[in-house]
Amino acid sequence: MTVVVRTVEALRSWRAALPTDERVAFVPTMGFLHEGHLSLLREARRRGGHVVLSIFVNPTQFGPGEDYDRYPRDEDGDLAKARDCGVALAFCPHAPEELYPSRDTWVNVEQLDRHLCGRSRPGHFRGVCTVVCKLLALVRPDVTLLGEKDFQQLAIVRRMHEDLFLPGEIVGMPIVREADGLALSSRNAYLDGTTRAQALAIPRLLDRIAAAFAAGERDVATLCAGAAEALAPGRLDYLEIVDERSLTPLTRIDGPARAAIAAFFGRVRLIDNRMLVP
Ligand code: AMP
Repeated sequence: MTVVVRTVEALRSWRAALPTDERVAFVPTMGFLHEGHLSLLREARRRGGHVVLSIFVNPTQFGPGEDYDRYPRDEDGDLAKARDCGVALAFCPHAPEELYPSRDTWVNVEQLDRHLCGRSRPGHFRGVCTVVCKLLALVRPDVTLLGEKDFQQLAIVRRMHEDLFLPGEIVGMPIVREADGLALSSRNAYLDGTTRAQALAIPRLLDRIAAAFAAGERDVATLCAGAAEALAPGRLDYLEIVDERSLTPLTRIDGPARAAIAAFFGRVRLIDNRMLVP
């Protein structure tokens, strides 16, 4: 049975009532759950203890003109999936004010947000870090599971977690894809048949880069050449190959790196990435 709580007070009471030797695994999400989210919940379950899921479309991580108002929502469907995955508690705040009694306090991780999505979406990671910090303070998990799909988010949350001495451990989980290679995302719901087919250019481009890399190419300009054309009629937001840890853009690959991409198909912005290890 999944307990659903809608207030910070109820979440705190549930957490306070848990015996101290019982473990908690936490999966924060914005809902509209798909197999990517479920892979995190299953791993949380596998690790034992109580699985806590949060479903909160966090307004502070959306910029003006982004899709906050139309972000897909399906709470009943999400809770049915949560039950199937053995979630003990789902935290579904009834309103943003529940997590934002004021909007005076913010958590900023500097440096790691200077590239990739940080540059395209100013303020996005401030919103992400602030909400994840609040959730970790409330849930006090032993382990928090995040997807590598949002590779920069994972790196930034890891840095915040380490620098602020937040509880538990952060675990990154592999990207779950459709059979044809498209990375699962709640935003795929915006795609129609045409843009869905066009969006396959993203995993194909990453495959092409990975194949050239595996064949020995190390020059980033060569690896990324022709990307905009390969994505057309999709519009490239960025394609960068960055250092796996510092996220600084590389011109040559000498150590662990990531090819990271964001592109628009119609109004829909999709992201994806691929690890490149020499
Ligand atoms: P979201 O609901 O988009 O905020 O995502 C919640 C969590 O699920 C984040 O840690 C994401 O990185 C993770 N996630 C989203 N899509 C995928 C995917 N295709 N594979 C693995 N994890 C994912």
